[in-house]
Amino acid sequence: MRIILLGSPGAGKGSLAAEISKKYPVAHISTGDILRENVKNNTPLGVKARSFMESGGLVSDDIVIAMMEERLGRPDCEKGFILDGFPRTVSQAEALEEILEKAGMAISSTVLLDVDEDLVVRRLSGRRICRNCGAIYNVNTRPSSKGDRCEICGGELYQRDDDREDIVRQRLGVYYRETAPLISYFEKKRSFLRLKPNEKGDIVLEDFEKALGWRNDNA
Ligand code: AMP
Repeated sequence: MRIILLGSPGAGKGSLAAEISKKYPVAHISTGDILRENVKNNTPLGVKARSFMESGGLVSDDIVIAMMEERLGRPDCEKGFILDGFPRTVSQAEALEEILEKAGMAISSTVLLDVDEDLVVRRLSGRRICRNCGAIYNVNTRPSSKGDRCEICGGELYQRDDDREDIVRQRLGVYYRETAPLISYFEKKRSFLRLKPNEKGDIVLEDFEKALGWRNDNA
């Protein structure tokens, strides 16, 4: 199973990918998480990426592509992977195809999380993340029962700097300009799926499984 999750910031790619990788043997690869870890540890990659990330812009293609070539070559990807936040430009999509082709692999499905902009802005501005285990909550729609602490591990919940409203608008602008063209790019290929949120505004694992034919209604 080699899957790309497409969708705007705040569409729920990270939460869904985490659920999938808990249930199925796939590596969850989030370029945002890898970059944030590098920024936190002040690595040479993190130093290069920091200013782009703080302003809500994209880190340059050559940096991200090299980073992903290395990541996809690691042994845990042999069993399959789910890409969350990559590719984000047409150049990255083309590079991904080349990387996989060299390794004798191909993407099995691309799944677009198709969420309206107003919901996305509400989601991002309410998002809180556990500093310790990375669990994702939302003060509006999915608060932690332990207040500003994580339900799972008790870690402190924090708001990402780039989830502030001005930066969110910037990130959405970048999404529509740079990443949304990937929808028509992947629509032309085989196995492109579009998922819409349920009445609660969520795209849950069950919807994803049904769309991919991994589960029928009686499951
Ligand atoms: P995310 O956690 O996916 O919202 O990513 C956070 C930030 O990391 C983005 O706003 C970008 O600055 C950077 N980033 C993540 N993935 C990519 C990518 N594929 N290409 C360029 N920049 C990225």
